[in-house]
Amino acid sequence: MGNGLKRAVFLDRDGTINLDTNYLSRPDDLCLIPGAARAIARLNQARLAVVVITNQSGLARDFFSEDDLAAVHAELDRLLAAAGARIDAYFHCPHHPQGVVQSLAIECDCRKPGTGLVTRAAQEMGLDLRGSFMIGDRPGDVGCALAAGLTAVRVLSGPDHEEWLEPAHHYADDLAQAVEWILGRLGSGR
Ligand SMILES: [Mg+2]
Ligand SMILES: [Zn+2]
Repeated sequence: MGNGLKRAVFLDRDGTINLDTNYLSRPDDLCLIPGAARAIARLNQARLAVVVITNQSGLARDFFSEDDLAAVHAELDRLLAAAGARIDAYFHCPHHPQGVVQSLAIECDCRKPGTGLVTRAAQEMGLDLRGSFMIGDRPGDVGCALAAGLTAVRVLSGPDHEEWLEPAHHYADDLAQAVEWILGRLGSGR
């Protein structure tokens, strides 16, 4: 790459890695989307940073706590490790303007489509955003990706197919297909 920065694949969590069960808060409810663990392992093998960027407004809404969220991510790590896969870092937005936890009920810059979490990850991890990708199932994921200068891949494994205001660079059935496309693109020298 020449600039010393690392490429990343940013992943949405719910509806992209695991089934979106609406405010998932219990490790027992975590269910991986078929092929997701193997897809993440392929990103690891390709030496791409794997970074989860997730809106968790259930924190602002007081549906669950930071401890609950940490327990879900520990379980996700455990399920992925069983398949030889690893998330390098998690970044989450706990905010929502209509939240009931006062300190979190704000208009922030980190709730996707805001780019605050991607920017923070890039600074902390030394990431080359122009050479990086975002995979997600919702309009906010694509909006965030485009605003941050990432290549946007939309997956259709989410619970609904909301209308997309901005078109993604690529559409895939699921994470496995999205990763296949990204690795092919990188392998061909783009
Ligand atoms: Mg999602
Ligand atoms: Zn936020």
